[in-house]
Amino acid sequence: MIKIKPPTEGIFYNRDPSKIHFQRPITVQLYDHINGLGRDLKSRFSEKIHKLTIDADFTCPNRDGTLGIGGCTFCNNHSFSNKTGSQLSVREQLENSKPGMRAKRYLAYFQTYTNTYAEVETLRMLYEEALTTADIVGLCVGTRPDCVPDATLDLLADYQQQGYEVWLELGLQSSFDRTLDLINRGHHFDAYIDAVQRAAARQLKVCTHLIIGLPGEAPEDSMTTLNRVLDVGVQGLKLHPLHIVKGSEMARQWKRGELSAIEQSTYVDVASRMIRHTPWEVVFHRVSATARKPTLLAPDWCDNRWPVLNAIAQRLQLEGGQGSALPVMQKDQSVPAL
Ligand code: SF4
Repeated sequence: MIKIKPPTEGIFYNRDPSKIHFQRPITVQLYDHINGLGRDLKSRFSEKIHKLTIDADFTCPNRDGTLGIGGCTFCNNHSFSNKTGSQLSVREQLENSKPGMRAKRYLAYFQTYTNTYAEVETLRMLYEEALTTADIVGLCVGTRPDCVPDATLDLLADYQQQGYEVWLELGLQSSFDRTLDLINRGHHFDAYIDAVQRAAARQLKVCTHLIIGLPGEAPEDSMTTLNRVLDVGVQGLKLHPLHIVKGSEMARQWKRGELSAIEQSTYVDVASRMIRHTPWEVVFHRVSATARKPTLLAPDWCDNRWPVLNAIAQRLQLEGGQGSALPVMQKDQSVPAL
């Protein structure tokens, strides 16, 4: 396989939900009330399309000294230290992930670390290894807003023009520069605006990752971030509760009593409100996230995906689904057509 840079640390929250061991059905169907990625893909491919996760051995400029060495304060330093995925080629990882999937075609999800952090020819080899694997219909590429040069966007846009499904997944987390500084992201909101505008100029779809419950942020701040992201223009969203995980700077702050974890009820309130204020055309790739103990320190409820998904589904059933809080005109004006 192609070697890039030996990663030493990684992100904690990007776990493949298909690998989570809780398999209980949600009692109220969440996907009746939101435009989820599964629904969106099925409507266009006429069959289930699942994501297969890849660790392509990237690193992160916020950890290798290019931007910083500490990384984001929520990022786990050690959770990937025993990872085995990167010892396999991209094709091997994809083939190994297929058995047990309830789909016949897939998106290759470059998930771990900063998946555009290499020369464009290296990226081309990795992405094309994925795209030439049997039954792969496209790519999801997770990265930072300050790590998407024009040449990389051109490469992704070229795949899209060839007919592949392509999503650029940008970790933003918050639109507030004070929060981004506090959590040591190493970029500000203007970098996100720049990346989205350059992606939009190439008709590339962007899925933005947001964290609810960041230190110093109130529920209204999450709403402000949502509105700013919608104003810039976005095609997909992922919502995550703040996880406090072993090995992170936040874990140390939490142990010192300087940081508290978000309550499930607060998360359900805020996430549901954000969903109701999001136009139906925006695709939700995720509305919560899990982490597993003992890596997860807090909040405890984040080790089981179903109670929170059920609670969000019930809230949306009661108060209205995605986009229900928006005036009709605003729905049409918020998302630029691709
Ligand atoms: S951008 Fe932040 S969260 Fe992502 S790998 Fe780098 S340090 Fe971790």
